[in-house]
Amino acid sequence: MAFIGLSVPPEVGAVHGRFDVPGKRSPREELHVTVHHLGKDVPIDQVAKAAIVAFGAARRTFPFQVSTRVISSFDPGDDGVPIIARIESPELHKLRQTLSGAFDAAAVEYSKKFKTFQPHVTLAYADLTERPVDRPIAPISWPVNEIVVWGGDQGSNYIVVKIPLEGGPESVTAMKVAARVGARPIPMDVGRVTTETFNVQREILRVLKKLPPDEPLGVRKNLVVMKLDSLEGQRTVRHESIKTPVLSVGSAQVSSTSPLVGASYDLQAGHPVIHLDLNSRMPPSFLIGALSDRSGMLEIRNKLLHEMTHALDVQTESTYHTNDSDPYGIDKDRYYNDPTEVRAFMRQIADETIRYAEKQKRAPVPASGPKLVQDALRKSPVWNQVRKHLSPKNTAILLKGVYRALQDAGFDIGGDDYAFLFSDV
Ligand SMILES: [Zn+2]
Repeated sequence: MAFIGLSVPPEVGAVHGRFDVPGKRSPREELHVTVHHLGKDVPIDQVAKAAIVAFGAARRTFPFQVSTRVISSFDPGDDGVPIIARIESPELHKLRQTLSGAFDAAAVEYSKKFKTFQPHVTLAYADLTERPVDRPIAPISWPVNEIVVWGGDQGSNYIVVKIPLEGGPESVTAMKVAARVGARPIPMDVGRVTTETFNVQREILRVLKKLPPDEPLGVRKNLVVMKLDSLEGQRTVRHESIKTPVLSVGSAQVSSTSPLVGASYDLQAGHPVIHLDLNSRMPPSFLIGALSDRSGMLEIRNKLLHEMTHALDVQTESTYHTNDSDPYGIDKDRYYNDPTEVRAFMRQIADETIRYAEKQKRAPVPASGPKLVQDALRKSPVWNQVRKHLSPKNTAILLKGVYRALQDAGFDIGGDDYAFLFSDV
């Protein structure tokens, strides 16, 4: 069997894996969207030819978004009733037309069995005699920046050719492509987060001042519980309005001398909850001293930015129950390379580098261009914490996002040539 289509990114596959569907589930790594079926027993030279022709089409196609918002089905076939997630994307229909034209012109055979293109991800095959009713789900969307040709006799993974979408006959730099597919921090009104942080700081200090000042705080829950309104009106990456997260401040026992020893994010009955953990071994008098000044405020804000990014992001299992400041007991390299963590750290590092760059404006000899970016990264505590764990690919994604955020914030750091970042930070 050979076909050409889109693979489903692992974090989106994880979301699909949690849908309640009847029947035998498709393995997560096999989730895909077929664009053209090339045939059942396709010789390797025909698969290769299809890949070459598709390559030409991909160079004329910009990266785009697809989304899904309904679980549906098709009429029963040999394997039962296919349970599917319908895919919406005008650009995907256009891409299919482009491919049809290119295949026709080059005499590459493909199936013309289905008159109308109904893009979908097959989630499962159910042993049912009738199709279940369609069911709406919270919309999910994800970027498509490559098409994939699969060819093989058994299954379809004998050969896999990934072809990047480039978007025009003129050469488009990787930076531009990255910008189109979201190599930027997830949008957030950080000004409002700052204002809210002052309220959080004030509440924490108010509660701590009521406790015996010189006894260790001990392990406590819900010292402060409050709503976090600063994201109100914002959309998640799934284009849903965000539900107002609740902040719960408690304490945890960790061998550390910091006042704040952890932060985490989870959903409780579908409701986003952000936890901040104070150091249980420290007495309130110490915590009050450490958290009442500007650096204390910034520390709280930094943790909130990370967890609020999770609240706006695609929910994956790995985001749950992870203590972000102290990922004990888990594989650290895996934790730091989780796509949602990369985006949360990108947000924090963008914030730290922008604040550094703001300060530089007032320096006697302000740095600018590549040097400003490099200096800002060297001074970023979060960058120094995560860099040693990141894979080369995630390093590239994170640095592109930070670079883009600095440009968006109005800093003149040069054109789109960010390659210097990889050599010297
Ligand atoms: Zn995190």
